[in-house]
Amino acid sequence: MSPAAASPFLRIENVTKRYEGTDAPAVANVSLDVGRGEFFSLLGASGSGKSTLLRILAGFETPDSGHVFIDGRDVTDLPPYERPVNMMFQSYALFPHMSVADNVGFGLKQDGMPKAQRTKRIEDLLDMVHLGSKAKRKPHQLSGGERQRVALARALAKHPKLLLLDEPLGALDRKLRESTQFELKALQARLGITFVMVTHDQDEAMTLSSRLAVMDHGRVLQIGAPNEVYESPTSRHVAEFLGAANLLDAAVTGWASGIATLACDGFDGSFKATAPSPLSAGTRVAIAVRPEKIRLCGAADDADNKLHGQVKDVAYIGDVSTYNMWLAGARSLRVQTTNSKRGGAMPASGEELWLSWDAADAVVISE
Ligand code: ADP
Ligand code: MG
Repeated sequence: MSPAAASPFLRIENVTKRYEGTDAPAVANVSLDVGRGEFFSLLGASGSGKSTLLRILAGFETPDSGHVFIDGRDVTDLPPYERPVNMMFQSYALFPHMSVADNVGFGLKQDGMPKAQRTKRIEDLLDMVHLGSKAKRKPHQLSGGERQRVALARALAKHPKLLLLDEPLGALDRKLRESTQFELKALQARLGITFVMVTHDQDEAMTLSSRLAVMDHGRVLQIGAPNEVYESPTSRHVAEFLGAANLLDAAVTGWASGIATLACDGFDGSFKATAPSPLSAGTRVAIAVRPEKIRLCGAADDADNKLHGQVKDVAYIGDVSTYNMWLAGARSLRVQTTNSKRGGAMPASGEELWLSWDAADAVVISE
């Protein structure tokens, strides 16, 4: 059973939102469940409706239809301050004239928490994000990563049951993002608070999330654990958005025990790929093969799928190399290999090689 099925802490039911004066809904009939203590991500390109959905959860936007339940309670018509929710904004929205401590304690002061108690809570929060020594500084005296941690501490001050994070690491450079990702994940696991994060960065969503939803044009295309969605994409869009994918147009010629046999447009021979549900002969589909699932070898091996090709371009990235392989009919496939040996021999441009992969390492996509 998935975590969500065990305990749907957050339930989004058929939520639709169209902004006035626009043709297409920003969020279109979205339904999903998030389990208690999950780190859940909404992943999609810019404009896919992620922030709108997050703002609906926070109560800053009202859906045209549908319902939001938090911990079993319908909160659809509740104002933001009556929801057990806090939101961390992409810009962090820190008060520039206030110290770090006052920023973190702002909401507590507004709620009338006595000073002594507030001071203790602020101390605990700043220790939690390793900023205890910088309590008196102003936001402009901090690095980007430190400002991010102030915003996080402030968002957690009132013990929200659900924390919403809109592109929380978007303002950080790449190296800092990576270390901050691990800190954020460790903190979430320790606190046990349910996190829903919005991001357009697939690596970030994959690194942090227990599950993620891929969004496009306001719709949720697929929901699952990062490895499930990566290894078993159900649509072309998801296959291409989450990682790199080779997509081969094909027609089904047969199906048995979860494996489809296929004829690929422009290639001779028969291909095999994983297809959990039965498919009838003649159905038009695509075969998706990830670049790292394809082997390059000098002679044809006994793999389920084989193609002859020529190395067109080589990109040496250090840990991996990516090859653009020319095939018959001016087609190309992308292949990625791991450089596990120092100074290992690498295929060179112009070299003729066989590309092979097994049925288990490719999936049939019907949409
Ligand atoms: P994302 O966060 O995935 O980038 P948004 O939820 O911000 O996407 O936006 C989804 C769509 O709604 C976009 O087409 C955007 O232009 C539109 N949109 C967002 N906010 C407003 C608004 N306040 N008024 C009108 N249209 C908006
Ligand atoms: Mg956004």
